[in-house]
Amino acid sequence: MLDTSLELSSTKHDNPNIKKIYGQFKSEISEELEKFHVPSKQNSMRTKQLWNWTFLGGVTEFSEINNMPKELLNQLSKNYTLSRNSIAKEQKSNDGTMKWLIDLESENNSTNNQIETVFIPEEKRGTLCISSQIGCTLNCTFCHTGTQKLVRNLTAAEIVSQLLIAKDRLNDWHKNNPNNVRKITNVVMMGMGEPLYNFEAVKKALQIMTDFDGLALSKRRITLSTSGIVPYIERVGNEIGVSLAVSLHAAKDEIRDILVPINKKYPLRELINACENYPRIKNSSKITFEYVMLKDINDSLEDAKDLIKILSNIPSKINLIPFNPWPGSNYMCSDMKKIREFAKVLLDAGFSSPIRKPRGQDILAACGQLKSETIRLKIKK
Ligand code: SAH
Ligand code: SF4
Repeated sequence: MLDTSLELSSTKHDNPNIKKIYGQFKSEISEELEKFHVPSKQNSMRTKQLWNWTFLGGVTEFSEINNMPKELLNQLSKNYTLSRNSIAKEQKSNDGTMKWLIDLESENNSTNNQIETVFIPEEKRGTLCISSQIGCTLNCTFCHTGTQKLVRNLTAAEIVSQLLIAKDRLNDWHKNNPNNVRKITNVVMMGMGEPLYNFEAVKKALQIMTDFDGLALSKRRITLSTSGIVPYIERVGNEIGVSLAVSLHAAKDEIRDILVPINKKYPLRELINACENYPRIKNSSKITFEYVMLKDINDSLEDAKDLIKILSNIPSKINLIPFNPWPGSNYMCSDMKKIREFAKVLLDAGFSSPIRKPRGQDILAACGQLKSETIRLKIKK
């Protein structure tokens, strides 16, 4: 690892009645301004101003806003905040990947309230990997997060906050980049948790992130990854409209039942059927299938052929992910030669099949390695 664990602290807002502005729709802010007797003629302008300062200016205090009436800002600050969740730890990998351990507010006196967010810089883009839950209810056997019980779902504000925190730390605000060269160009819902088991909050957060008057992230540059919660897949396309990634990992139920146990509830036939009908396919955008390469488990040429068969009716891209080990994991990564042969079979059948380069492994920031620090420390003891 390069330097660099930085212990950071920032202001905490533990009052649950204080809402985060950035977890609100514009329409909700506008309703609030109405309650504060902002004249209706000004309402839309004031809402946009607030939205602008929040998402383009990156302000963290109402006092930084200089073109709105002081009295209104005062009123707002009694019920709302622009402050972020606190960063407990920041790490930078020697490949430039950054990981933040973030403290969230505690519910039901739970002791573990941390999530991780990861930034992966590449030549032409920067991807932020965002968490949707503390822990996960699903127990995929190769995934570190899966060994951590679900504590709770994140709120929309906590999901958006991860993007704002990363922009703060990377100095990625519009005001500092007059040419609008963004460091974070893409968002993937591939951190801790199953986003489709927190559908409403994820939907709201992504709608806020894509709102044209704010961060205006393009839907094409957002990918939601699911382990295959079939009933929600169509809703992702219709109601959120972002790119879909499916954690497939096996082309036969016998193997997938073990790797991704939710497969027993939503078996491959149903999952593939939902993907074949995914609304965006009609607009010719591809579905990404994630396939973790596990030595002697799912990496034979036979497995590759089965994969080709089940995906034959879906415009797809298959991301081959070399297994990232974590403390206590029982699997081994397939040999690189085997992964390349596997990729070639898929390529020859017409599938784009990139092999994902592991990023941030030295700080446990790679796919499937995320876990709350508090839990990790307990395990070490
Ligand atoms: N819960 C969602 C979102 C998490 S995305 C989902 O499962 O899709 C994280 C991706 O990394 C998933 O494709 C997951 O299957 C994969 N993954 C999990 N553990 C991994 C590991 N140890 N090595 C490589 N990939 C892993
Ligand atoms: Fe949960 Fe996804 Fe990990 Fe499975 S792979 S345990 S669904 S986070």
